[in-house]
Amino acid sequence: MTPLAPGSTIGILGGGQLGRMLALAAARLGFDVAILDPEPDCPASRVCALHLCAAYDDPEALTRLARISGVVTLEFENVPAGALAILIGLGVPVAPGAQALAVAQDRVEEKSFLNAAGAPTVAFAAADSPQAAARASADLGGRVLIKTRRDGYDGKGQAWANSPEAAAEVFLSLGGRPVIVEAPAPFRRELSVIAARGWSGASATFPLAENVHRNGILHLSSAPAVLAPGQANEAGRIADRILSGLGYVGVIGIELFELEDASLLVNEIAPRVHNSGHWTQDGAATDQFEQHIRAVAGWSLGPVEARARVEMENLLGEAVQDWPAIAGESNARLHLYGKRKAREGRKMGHVNRVFPL
Ligand code: AMP
Repeated sequence: MTPLAPGSTIGILGGGQLGRMLALAAARLGFDVAILDPEPDCPASRVCALHLCAAYDDPEALTRLARISGVVTLEFENVPAGALAILIGLGVPVAPGAQALAVAQDRVEEKSFLNAAGAPTVAFAAADSPQAAARASADLGGRVLIKTRRDGYDGKGQAWANSPEAAAEVFLSLGGRPVIVEAPAPFRRELSVIAARGWSGASATFPLAENVHRNGILHLSSAPAVLAPGQANEAGRIADRILSGLGYVGVIGIELFELEDASLLVNEIAPRVHNSGHWTQDGAATDQFEQHIRAVAGWSLGPVEARARVEMENLLGEAVQDWPAIAGESNARLHLYGKRKAREGRKMGHVNRVFPL
């Protein structure tokens, strides 16, 4: 793709905090951003050039977005497939593309793709009845994690079962919807890798982050993670297989389990900028938001090396009230999303605490 010139418009589906930080990065490179989001007061709406306030599959809004945008991208993976089809039909480049979304929207498709691409995962089986869930639990050794195939996020829509009988019950408690049944990953820590690929096929992988979750939501990310020999190369190989397997364009987040022998399994992929990549805003040569904009706009990718060590802490719900103290910390950089209401567990902002490498 010919590099999109500054002054062009970039369309973004979704106006949450990720859309907002993408819009800010795009503005810094001289682009205008048009957001499509049904929420009138969404976080990105206050930092973009245009907010189309309509449903994601509204043909009129999508047509307008396609007309004004040099490229359309997204900030969340659950964009309806029909919306993407409309945009592509109108001839506007869309990145990442339909295959990446289809894979990321369904956990069985995702793990099947990953294994076929040579990115290892836990053993798993699909189930669409209590009997099938029980059989999968028996086949996978009894204790299993059962997740709805679609629409799960931040640990929602999933539960453990310790036996085939319990697996059948969990299947029903998750609403009787199609599920993936996963063997437990005996991990010693969770890591993630943020990578990017451009239209030309060039790719770049940021240093890994080590992540700690609380109640299924990311709490802390530290980067660059201290790694065993060979792990960074292994993560880079995994990222490249995924990116080229999907013909991907943009930034991708890849969540990893590190096992006792230091080997890596892929837990899941997010076809977008990722919460565990926020450290790059204050610790990497290029931040993940700029990198995504560069990639989808057909620019060269930016350098990805770490320039500082960062500990990123998510500010969830009322924790955002600590902003005055955080703003007074000498090594802290505060990032607030402009959300009006602090509900429990809601991502209100994050702080990057910056240390010398
Ligand atoms: P997910 O929604 O797939 O990202 O899962 C949320 C969290 O559940 C992960 O960050 C892990 O801490 C944990 N988890 C997910 N899958 C597994 C698994 N197969 N075995 C053990 N823990 C898991």
